[in-house]
Amino acid sequence: MAKIIDGKVHAERLRARIGDAVEELKRKYGLIPGLAVVLVGEDPASKVYVANKARQTVAAGMNSWEHKLSPETSEADLLALVDKLNRDPAVHGILVQLPLPKQIASMKVLNALDPAKDVDGFNVVNAGKLATGQDALVACTPVGAVLLAKDVLGSLEGLEAVVVGRSNIVGKPVAQLLLQENCTVTMAHSKTKDLPTVVRRGDLVIAAVGRPEMVKGDWIKPGACVIDVGINRVERQGKGKLVGDCDFASCEKVAGAITPVPGGVGPMTIACLLQNTVKAACAQRGIPAPPL
Ligand code: NAP
Repeated sequence: MAKIIDGKVHAERLRARIGDAVEELKRKYGLIPGLAVVLVGEDPASKVYVANKARQTVAAGMNSWEHKLSPETSEADLLALVDKLNRDPAVHGILVQLPLPKQIASMKVLNALDPAKDVDGFNVVNAGKLATGQDALVACTPVGAVLLAKDVLGSLEGLEAVVVGRSNIVGKPVAQLLLQENCTVTMAHSKTKDLPTVVRRGDLVIAAVGRPEMVKGDWIKPGACVIDVGINRVERQGKGKLVGDCDFASCEKVAGAITPVPGGVGPMTIACLLQNTVKAACAQRGIPAPPL
């Protein structure tokens, strides 16, 4: 049976290191990293994420601001708020919670963020820097997924890595990070032929598909490390339940290590957001970021 990778424990340790680093930044430089989160609309899942982000930001000793805008907010009004936050020196990181309502072009808003404050790493400047191997603010969930893999496997160099999913926010940045770790990377997607055979190549499989329990145990190379990014709400025996993109029951019998859902990659996302906020604050102040 696979080793279960406990993302909660990893995230807790990372948040503790961030809390210590923030204390030190305050003491040495009088710097309090600050994160502004913008929520447009009433999406219940987004409201929970935003509340968790604010709570954990404050718990790490940082400043937190929440901007809650109505679902009818115009693109121009949101861009005006982004501009104001871009120019506020106390705000080191800005996160615009996705999805945005239909009347707003998400990419336009993400690209309006000051790249130095783009702690979600979705701005085209940060995506381009990542793709060209330059220092960047990198998307939080991909960083969390790769940190968990490295924690279990140590060096990833030379491994065959299969990433299932090629979205801008998960699949592509995960693949770029794995290339930086010197993996041989295969990216699979909805047009990939014979997906089970492709996945079976992977010493490391990272699934970010958004299809409940799609990746089956007999797709997994025995002993492989499986990182499941998927979060899917399903009905089981009349009850709501969260499941990943991997069929945990069959995959854990074959894999060497696997992340559960919930409790795997999910908890790492906010911890990595706090890490990015510290990094952004230090860069804006012109001081070295503490090693985390
Ligand atoms: P997305 O934008 O919908 O992208 C899904 C990707 O999966 C696409 O590249 C798509 O291929 C591919 N795909 C869909 N069906 C497929 C199939 N049958 N076979 C192979 N590939 C298929 O989703 P996302 O935003 O990347 O999110 C992926 C999952 O991660 C979701 O469950 C989401 O909830 C979860 N997630 C978790 C966190 C977190 O842990 N905090 C954060 C973000 C996302 P095409 O490109 O060909 O359409």
